Amino acid sequence: MMGERRPPTLWTLTADPAPDRTVVILPQRADVVVIGGGFTGMTAALALVRKGRSVVVLERSRLGDGASGTNAGFVVPNFAKADPDAVRRKLPDPAAERLLRLVGEGADQVFETIRAEGIDCDARQTGWLQPAYGKEAANMLRRRAAAWNALGRPVRFLSANAVQHETSMAIYQGGLFDPSGGAIHPLKYLSGLADAVTRRGGVIREQAEVTAVTRSENGWRVAFTGGELAAAVVILATNAFTSGVAGRLGSTTVPLRVYQVATKPLSEAVVNRISPNRLPVGDTRMNLFTYRLDRDNRLISGGMAINPVGAFRRVGNAVVDRLVAELGLETPPEVEVVWTGVAAMTPDFLPRIHQFGPGFYAGIGCNGRGIAMTAQLGRVLARAALGEAAENLPVPLISARRLPFHALKPLAASAALAQARFADWRRGGA
Ligand SMILES: Cc1cc2nc3c(=O)[nH]c(=O)nc-3n(C[C@H](O)[C@H](O)[C@H](O)COP(=O)(O)OP(=O)(O)OC[C@H]3O[C@@H](n4cnc5c(N)ncnc54)[C@H](O)[C@@H]3O)c2cc1C
Repeated sequence: MMGERRPPTLWTLTADPAPDRTVVILPQRADVVVIGGGFTGMTAALALVRKGRSVVVLERSRLGDGASGTNAGFVVPNFAKADPDAVRRKLPDPAAERLLRLVGEGADQVFETIRAEGIDCDARQTGWLQPAYGKEAANMLRRRAAAWNALGRPVRFLSANAVQHETSMAIYQGGLFDPSGGAIHPLKYLSGLADAVTRRGGVIREQAEVTAVTRSENGWRVAFTGGELAAAVVILATNAFTSGVAGRLGSTTVPLRVYQVATKPLSEAVVNRISPNRLPVGDTRMNLFTYRLDRDNRLISGGMAINPVGAFRRVGNAVVDRLVAELGLETPPEVEVVWTGVAAMTPDFLPRIHQFGPGFYAGIGCNGRGIAMTAQLGRVLARAALGEAAENLPVPLISARRLPFHALKPLAASAALAQARFADWRRGGA
């Protein structure tokens, strides 16, 4: 089994070993070749095999080695940094309304797929809480809740007392509660999606890095380490990666390295105080404070590092210190595991589909809210692959534009952390 070589995450440590998909016989031709075996690619593949299409998924590494296996498992049904009004300012009607509805239904879609496919992934649709830090943020969340209500979403603004009850934290001025959110074990979810694809005849091959996609007489030729195959349609779902053909998508985004920390399990008494209803929490501070519990009551939280040298130990300690201070923990919990991953941010924080030729699509733009977003983006990519007209798709289809100075962006993102801490300190009393 090759799974032992991957760096440990909470998810690899708590999931059954995945089947080895590195030696799989491939057909010479498929209706659709999906490049990248994360949530986006696997959701697209599932939608296509459900429609009876022959599908091959080619994954460069092992399933879950990208963001889909390294995230924190918060299922959050909205945009990272865009309100409905901001989306309306950026997109013409009816594109804005279609995108808003799609995104608002993202979390429900995740839990619906989990139920429909019988995926065992510690899923809990408890709702998701976004506490407001400062009066300005509380007003912004009141407006945000009203905007989602107007779209028919059951989002509520909670009082400061209600937020304190859910978190034990008295620093917030209220918060936004979306009952459709929740939490999952992301690697088990991804494995479950992969099993659902193969159960319906889809073929998944790991350690097959796609190096070139070229036009042929009746479609595309897809070259990968170890072979080549033909496809009528190609879907590129490689997120922040930039190796092989992934470069044309990855270089349209800003890569953001994020660290995640899981503590040893907490006692029931502490859990009942800091999370009586087990709501996953992510506040409004620029230096975001997040926490959730896993099935065994480990606390999961995250952070970034200004300096990557020695970051695992340093971020692990800093995250625990912050959990202790924010949640008033009497005994600092021991760190069980620290891991890291790279999230892809689009400049306007919106998802998008790129078209590189007839029948060659790419999807991107999950911006740290990828579990719910990919459940929708993957299905929209499948609709494009099935021939639906671009103007009917609920995610904008635009031409790809490489970001200038792409390689320098991670440094810029780290430097922004120091600035964020200062801004939060100033806003706290606002
Ligand atoms: C540390 C971290 C924490 C996060 N926490 C959350 C969270 O709590 N909630 C949330 O909703 N979102 C979260 N996100 C975001 C979320 O994980 C992503 O948006 C989502 O997983 C993206 O899925 P994807 O399939 O598009 O990309 P990925 O999962 O990155 O998949 C892309 C795949 O493409 C493969 N690939 C790349 N190049 C090639 C090639 N040339 N040939 C073949 N295959 C290739 C890669 O190996 C990879 O498996 C987090 C992200 C990170 C990094």
